[in-house]
Amino acid sequence: MQRIDHVLPWNCPGTERRLSVFRFGNGPCKAYIQAALHADEMPGMRVAVELKRRLRELEAQGRLTGVIELVPVANPIGLGQLFQATQQGRFEFASGKNFNRDFFALTEAIAPALDGCLGADGPANVRLIRAAMQAALDVLPAPTSELQALQRLLLKHACDADVVLDLHCDFEAVVHLYTLPQQWTQLRSLAARLQAGAVLVTEDGGGSSFDESCSLPWLRLGLQFPAATIPLACLAATVELGGMADTGKKQAAASAESILAFLAEQGLIAGDW
Ligand SMILES: [Zn+2]
Repeated sequence: MQRIDHVLPWNCPGTERRLSVFRFGNGPCKAYIQAALHADEMPGMRVAVELKRRLRELEAQGRLTGVIELVPVANPIGLGQLFQATQQGRFEFASGKNFNRDFFALTEAIAPALDGCLGADGPANVRLIRAAMQAALDVLPAPTSELQALQRLLLKHACDADVVLDLHCDFEAVVHLYTLPQQWTQLRSLAARLQAGAVLVTEDGGGSSFDESCSLPWLRLGLQFPAATIPLACLAATVELGGMADTGKKQAAASAESILAFLAEQGLIAGDW
């Protein structure tokens, strides 16, 4: 396991926040999993504890066949927001913005440079597009807020992944997922393993949420360059792990095992579940 710590800019003097990414395994495929982008959503963080423990075991057993990046606390800014003894993790105090909106629009940033470069070779196009995404994020001017810096870091780690899972929860709910209609078939197994009560699909929910900022560029580039072979190379979903109070160990361990089983199906872990 490799730990990568990013210091966020724009802290108050004398304070410092960090975003920690835990990277496991090696191989051609990559999965990215983050929890609690709306900081006070505990079920995802609880599942991330189980995932981290299990991924360390699987890595020691040599069973990881791809790279898995885990961000158990995706929103250290929101986690520090307490108002009158109540956690406030959905909107940033400084700006009033929802932490899961307005992620950087990759499609518009990379499309001009890709014009004339994409052909019939799907895997080659995927490599080109991912490199263009990383380059576009690298050349952005310095972030103008702590929130913008955080969102860019999360996107930078996720945008070149084959699988992206953004773990949230609702107030009181069954497990449910959000994804693109085109990716529902691939996500069926995860939904079934998590015993999801519903899967909500939309091609563009609006607002540039995290999962869509990772998956939609592939769809949009495909429309923009119809002559090129552009697969939907990033399978992304928002996973609502039930309600705020669903933090029991048994349920968290079962959810983690469901996610690991899904990653195994996607070619990132060897062995059967
Ligand atoms: Zn949420």
